Amino acid sequence: MENRTCPKCSGEMDEGTVSISEGVKYISNRQAGMLKAVTPARRARVCLNCGYMELYLDVAELKKKIQK
Ligand SMILES: [Zn+2]
Repeated sequence: MENRTCPKCSGEMDEGTVSISEGVKYISNRQAGMLKAVTPARRARVCLNCGYMELYLDVAELKKKIQK
């Protein structure tokens, strides 16, 4: 979370979280089989100038799901 500047417009980025129960969830195309367990985005940043949003998930959690 080193860059605090918006990659689109160089505006100020505000950092927060996303709802785990209703928030954005990610499913990798590399996840095999019928078990398409979602990985929730747990951290987010939003540009206070243009509204651009970045989402971050737990990569350790995702990697467990895409391991063969
Ligand atoms: Zn921006």
